[in-house]
Amino acid sequence: MAENAPRPRGASPFPPLRVGILGATGAVGQKMVKLLSGHPWFRVVRLMGSARSAGLRYGDAVRWLEPTPLPSWARDLPVEEAAPSEECDFVFSALESGAARELEGVFSWAGIPVISNAGAHRLLPSVPLLVPEVNPDHADRLGDLPEGRGFIVANPNCSTTGLVLALKPLLDECPVERIMVTTLQAVSGAGYPGVPSMDILGNTIPTIPGEEEKLEEEPLKVFGEMAEEGFRPARMTISAQTNRVPVLDGHLLSVSLEFSRPMTPARANSVIEGFRSPLEGLGLPSAPSRPVILCPDPDGPQPRLHSNACGGMSVSVGRLRPCPVLDLRFVALVHNTVRGAAGGAILNAEFLRARGWLRERRA
Ligand code: NAP
Repeated sequence: MAENAPRPRGASPFPPLRVGILGATGAVGQKMVKLLSGHPWFRVVRLMGSARSAGLRYGDAVRWLEPTPLPSWARDLPVEEAAPSEECDFVFSALESGAARELEGVFSWAGIPVISNAGAHRLLPSVPLLVPEVNPDHADRLGDLPEGRGFIVANPNCSTTGLVLALKPLLDECPVERIMVTTLQAVSGAGYPGVPSMDILGNTIPTIPGEEEKLEEEPLKVFGEMAEEGFRPARMTISAQTNRVPVLDGHLLSVSLEFSRPMTPARANSVIEGFRSPLEGLGLPSAPSRPVILCPDPDGPQPRLHSNACGGMSVSVGRLRPCPVLDLRFVALVHNTVRGAAGGAILNAEFLRARGWLRERRA
């Protein structure tokens, strides 16, 4: 387990929590295995997959897609059937959506908190849809849930995460009324093996089932207010068009906005430039100090060059300019499997740990 020993980043304020990963063999699950290697607050004790993988060694079950070697601590762990156990303080879910709909509820009802990447429960009133730099107060919804029961906290869809982070500094300055967003989404967003190569090579597919609806609905919850009945959606209208493109990692978003008051590109530039993480001071291991950064290149951001900004945890924004139809337009780039999935879920767990919502389950 040497590689999973605490990172040399100063003493952890907490004893590490014991973590399971649901869907550990998929594209997002293995990114979690990589990012949790040596994590100072969390120690992976269970890797879970479908009946296809259960009973195999992780190293035999997974088609490892990362450019770094499969961590040795994970290679020999058995892939287990996805069932609750007392061994875990909480689980991350990187389950395929249908399996998530069933299994995340099973874990949460068994008292095991679920930090999810999946879309299955994102819009439920009891589920915070959390991006901690954007809506940290939404975690307080967990205080309304019955004592001793588990809970589900979800991160938004990968493109939604990029959009809400890019919008956050601007919305702090001025309300936004209408948004038009067109995405160019990487193939890794479809999981592994994903889109057949004969469909995507030298091509663009102008539809991704369910994605436009997510991009039009989820930001309203993220920017909405907590209310007795759940979350009151923000008042803004979003029109989304989503495209799959032959890019490995990194979703690019072309965004046009209408503000309720005039906002010049120079002002937008300066509020993004001045934006710092509101999480500073919590000491979260995965939180970038600048979650939104201005791309210095006039022809950026580009997936191949800029997806890995701050280890893939920051969203890059560029080409801020006036929009002749709405007010302002820009391009944003999010690493879909890091900030848009595995890294976003790990940051959510760190935030919930720091706030006391995640803790040891045994006496
Ligand atoms: P994926 O590569 O298809 O992986 C799916 C995982 O789910 C595999 O580990 C699979 O296990 C497991 N699984 C499927 N059916 C199961 C069952 N009945 N019981 C237990 N495990 C089961 O998908 P992915 O891209 O990693 O995405 C995972 C989730 O994250 C999805 O809900 C997706 O919408 C969401 N997400 C993905 C991205 C992205 O950029 N890829 C971004 C944000 C959110 P086996 O391998 O053992 O069959």
